[in-house]
Amino acid sequence: MKADVPWLKKVGALYDSKRKDFNWRLAADGVIHHHNGLVYDAAAFRRRIAGGADAEKLIHESETELSRFGFDYLGKPAPKAALLDAGCGRGGSSLLLADKYRGLAIRGVTVSAYQAAAARAAAKTRGLSARVKFSRASMLALPFQKDSFDLVWACESTEHVPDLRVFFAETARAARNGARLVIIAWVRNTAHRLGRKYAALADKAYVTKIHGEGEYLKGPGKSGWRLAAKADLTGPTAAYWAARLALKSGSGTEGFMAPAFARRALVYHLYAYDLVK
Ligand code: SAM
Repeated sequence: MKADVPWLKKVGALYDSKRKDFNWRLAADGVIHHHNGLVYDAAAFRRRIAGGADAEKLIHESETELSRFGFDYLGKPAPKAALLDAGCGRGGSSLLLADKYRGLAIRGVTVSAYQAAAARAAAKTRGLSARVKFSRASMLALPFQKDSFDLVWACESTEHVPDLRVFFAETARAARNGARLVIIAWVRNTAHRLGRKYAALADKAYVTKIHGEGEYLKGPGKSGWRLAAKADLTGPTAAYWAARLALKSGSGTEGFMAPAFARRALVYHLYAYDLVK
């Protein structure tokens, strides 16, 4: 990783600092997520909590549901396929994918040295170290040869990338012809008068540079990534943030993230692309 790049250092420092945080507290199953959840039925969710269910456990489950929802867009990997987890956090999605597909080889990268070590420890605990490896590296300058991957998973990591064209070009280099890329991202609604306001609040809190949809639709084609599918998850994720807002102790960002998604000033999208080299 070009550790001298000030922006990457800033992003890395943020995740190095998040240790016994909200995400860690929720992960009683050892699968730590750093992404939104999906709540499909907000009224039923509230009834379960009113009936005594553990709210934090339900919120964690809704985050796991987001991963599972996204995995369907990867398709069923070929035996011995290789997947890049681009911006892997503490490895949550990689661990779930490794459990789901026994032949899948996974390489995860994060700019945080702490996260890479935590993800490696989690893989070891689950007996997955031979197949699931994590390193501190940038997905904008990957330490992998060209044509290494059949699948690329980027869940809530592209928000941190200043210029998405670099991400698309570098993942296209590292992936094989015919590879599938799945991105899940917070996207600024450029048509909404509050889009800039909420994106700025999130950017400040999360060290992001939230992009408008145009960058996910117009840029990737130049690197060979062709859009194959898109899903709008804003409704279920707005319900997730509303549930977090109702918690006594969340991460502290709920006050603006909940209305941002409820008003659709930010939208939550999944994009799936296929690579034509
Ligand atoms: N994908 C994980 C998940 O869904 O739980 C983590 C998402 S977290 C919001 C963002 C992740 O992107 C962090 O692990 C961060 O280190 C990583 N990231 C941001 N910029 C990166 C870059 N240039 N290269 C590699 N990882 C990056």
